[in-house]
Amino acid sequence: MTDDNDIGTFSPTQCDMPVLPVVAIVGRPNVGKSTLFNRLSGKRKAIVDDRPGVTRDCITVQVHWNEHQFTLVDTGGFMPFSKDSIEAAIREQVERAIAEADVVLFVCDAKVGVSAIDADVAKILRHSSVESLLVVNKLDHPGNEDVLLPEFYRLGLGDPIPVSAVSGRLSGNLLDLITAELDPLKINSEYKSEDVIKLVLVGRPNVGKSTLINKLAGFKVSIVNNRPGTTRDSTDTAIMWKHKSFLLIDTAGIRRSSRMEGQIEYYSSLRAMDSIKQASVALVLVDAVDGVTTQDARIMAKIIKEGCGMVIVVNKWDSVSKPKDSGKFVAETVSRFPFLRDFPIVTLSALTGSRVHRCLEAAANVRESRGRRIPTGKLNRLLEDVRSRVSAKGSGLEVNILYATQQGIDPPTFVLFADRPDLLSGSDTRHFEKCLRKEYDFAGSPMRIYWRSRNKKAKSEN
Ligand code: GDP
Ligand code: GDP
Repeated sequence: MTDDNDIGTFSPTQCDMPVLPVVAIVGRPNVGKSTLFNRLSGKRKAIVDDRPGVTRDCITVQVHWNEHQFTLVDTGGFMPFSKDSIEAAIREQVERAIAEADVVLFVCDAKVGVSAIDADVAKILRHSSVESLLVVNKLDHPGNEDVLLPEFYRLGLGDPIPVSAVSGRLSGNLLDLITAELDPLKINSEYKSEDVIKLVLVGRPNVGKSTLINKLAGFKVSIVNNRPGTTRDSTDTAIMWKHKSFLLIDTAGIRRSSRMEGQIEYYSSLRAMDSIKQASVALVLVDAVDGVTTQDARIMAKIIKEGCGMVIVVNKWDSVSKPKDSGKFVAETVSRFPFLRDFPIVTLSALTGSRVHRCLEAAANVRESRGRRIPTGKLNRLLEDVRSRVSAKGSGLEVNILYATQQGIDPPTFVLFADRPDLLSGSDTRHFEKCLRKEYDFAGSPMRIYWRSRNKKAKSEN
């Protein structure tokens, strides 16, 4: 199933490996995780460091199954002896797997049945958004399944999947189920240009733009030189991920600017702004160690003003001391720059490849937000909120808010009619935007909202 050179630890030295979906194995000690890892990867001997007290990090292997490929991770590690610390160690292992994997294989032991720790792990998995498969190991004989499997249904993770890691019984079936979950990279022959999600990467020098492009090029379909309609030499990279087509615009410009000495930052250059105008989503890279700097925030504001969709990509996540704290990072960023509240923030490592596909996933969602249309009837129901807000201000102003309509998409643009729009304030507009976002999830997409008077004299906001 695999090539012998594939095996290695999950470390930055793997930066040349293509980006593959990640499948992580979790579970209590002795349920057979290492045996299953070796079985699925076609290895006979455990690649573990069993010296007492030595913590081994994740072990990974690239698995090929039929036309599919994925990276299998054994999150194992040294397990302490006391019960309390075992529970804590397993919780940590599971949380790490949830953060880093596309699919989690939760392994249980048919001979032991459902333990209290298993129930805890199942609860964490049920509350996460990661895909998980419940694997019941040590079912060496077909006759045992009817008796031993049913109790695992109570973990609430769907059908338990029987396997015997030691003998290999049903391991092919498990691999089929894993690869079905992954919905793997398939080259779609119907490559329609209107379906292509145009991306541009921006960020300060050294933030990792070239590294991310190289990593994403693992999904490469083609390099497109000299896009029609451009005079300068441009290089776009077409990639495919989960049946979706993306075009990374002007990757030549990024590479060139990275090499320039004393460069004007790429993203403040005319060239970058030009690329932003052509893109539907900008991936703005920031450094995990520095966080979002004022300079980063300035370019983000510019992108929003251009009406381009935006995903904030926190790169070099491998180099922060507490990689679990992505929620904290997001909260701190939004408290410093509240205007970033409506934009997705993804953490990844371009160097190790960890979670890089998340930026594509987020970009695809943003592109969908940008194209969303809200029927007039629904918009007018939201206007009720603005009406009551304006009248509650009790300023004695007589404004008659009439109706709203969506004028366009990319970015979503709304026109609101009133008899005296000049009496309304920016905060009324922002309130309408807040209601819209709350109700219809326009995450990652800027929005344009204009007021017009009944006699069509316009006053614009935003
Ligand atoms: P880990 O601690 O979860 O990585 O578990 P190991 O892979 O080290 O396995 C623990 C023990 O369970 C070892 O003695 C294995 O030989 C045994 N074991 C693993 N898989 C199976 C299986 O499918 N059937 C049986 N009968 N024993 C197994
Ligand atoms: P660019 O100027 O934005 O194109 O940045 P580069 O891609 O040239 O990367 C600048 C430096 O950051 C290089 O030394 C990279 O190896 C390093 N780097 C890029 N991505 C990561 C990452 O995810 N983690 C770590 N630790 N270093 C990274």
